[in-house]
Amino acid sequence: MRAMLLDAPGRPLRDAVLADPRPGAGEVLLRVHACGVCRTDLHVVDGDLEHPKLPLVLGHEIVGTVLESGTGATRFATGARVGVPWLGWSCGRCGYCRSGRENLCDRAQFTGYQRDGGYAERAVADERFCFPLPDGFDDLAAAPLLCAGLIGYRSLVLTGDAERLGIYGFGAAAHIVTQVARYEGRRVFAFTRPGDEPGQQFARELGAAWAGASDGPAPEPLDAAIIFAPVGALVPTALAALVKGGTVVCAGIHMSDIPAFPYHLLWGERVVRSVANLTRGDGTEFLRVAGKIPVRTMVEAYPLERANDALADLRAGRSRGAAVLHCAQ
Ligand SMILES: [Zn+2]
Ligand SMILES: [Zn+2]
Repeated sequence: MRAMLLDAPGRPLRDAVLADPRPGAGEVLLRVHACGVCRTDLHVVDGDLEHPKLPLVLGHEIVGTVLESGTGATRFATGARVGVPWLGWSCGRCGYCRSGRENLCDRAQFTGYQRDGGYAERAVADERFCFPLPDGFDDLAAAPLLCAGLIGYRSLVLTGDAERLGIYGFGAAAHIVTQVARYEGRRVFAFTRPGDEPGQQFARELGAAWAGASDGPAPEPLDAAIIFAPVGALVPTALAALVKGGTVVCAGIHMSDIPAFPYHLLWGERVVRSVANLTRGDGTEFLRVAGKIPVRTMVEAYPLERANDALADLRAGRSRGAAVLHCAQ
């Protein structure tokens, strides 16, 4: 199979030909049709996330069809279309797993980090962690649902019933969350990098009530905020925009240091919290909601061999919506 391979952090991905992987017990072998490109992939490439499997196939928003099932894998028929998310395996036995928090499992394995992912023509996945995908989304459109959509949705749920919702960083996750938030009757206030007029315009087109620069004030107090940008300085900025009792949800897996801030920004029962990974329950629930609304993902497609360009565009903030690799095979 062709794969875009990470040999070591800090290096560009290498266009490689590898032996097809074989499905182990309980696993399925997939023909990969599309794979989303996520900011987390940049963090792996940059070495912000330590101890990746090396060499590594990145990619944790995989849309594929089942070619073959390993021993004991009976969940999906050959030819079934499935999605593979970031959570690739959890132990099922620890306190976190047994209390509905498999996203926090200490032994969890993540797709495109500790397990090979979808920047390739083939991938294997534990069938228990795959999702059937809703009809109405073609392969490219479905890919961003699997992390951007799913983590965004978990973040949105953790804002409670906030009506005025701030979103800091308007990329793939935000463009999906905005649609869900609007569907739920919330108002979205989108904060982008200063000067990113196209990003602000994009947010308004998706139904944001207001869009502006993240270094300016919010036009009115916010009930909650989600920070998708990996910028720790946005935490006190977002806190300062909240009403009492409001929550700031940090949705990224990595963030620059959060600067010291005066206690009065937190006072009044304001909350700062992170969102880590996903549970299978999140995925099932979000995919149902996404199909019902229905969410419309905006995708920028790149052939597999242009994975380095897709990552560079994401880094530079040039992508509108979600970058997705596709395999012609
Ligand atoms: Zn991701
Ligand atoms: Zn566990």
